Amino acid sequence: MKKISFDLAECNACGECLDLCDALSIYNWGFVDHAECEVCGECVDVCDTDALEIKAVHE
Ligand code: SF4
Ligand code: SF4
Repeated sequence: MKKISFDLAECNACGECLDLCDALSIYNWGFVDHAECEVCGECVDVCDTDALEIKAVHE
């Protein structure tokens, strides 16, 4: 499955992704909660710093 990874070290707290989607929170670094996230990729596109990425994960 795929999830959105959120690397806080790369994030400049611009807030663009937070305005876009309720699944995102500045506090959920690591992986975004899959129950809330459709992995649509819009937040990855809006992020200028590569803090957000789509990654394949094995569970
Ligand atoms: S991939 Fe889509 S649904 Fe998931 S956090 Fe980003 S904008 Fe929200
Ligand atoms: S768009 Fe990127 S840099 Fe801006 S708050 Fe979201 S993760 Fe951080």
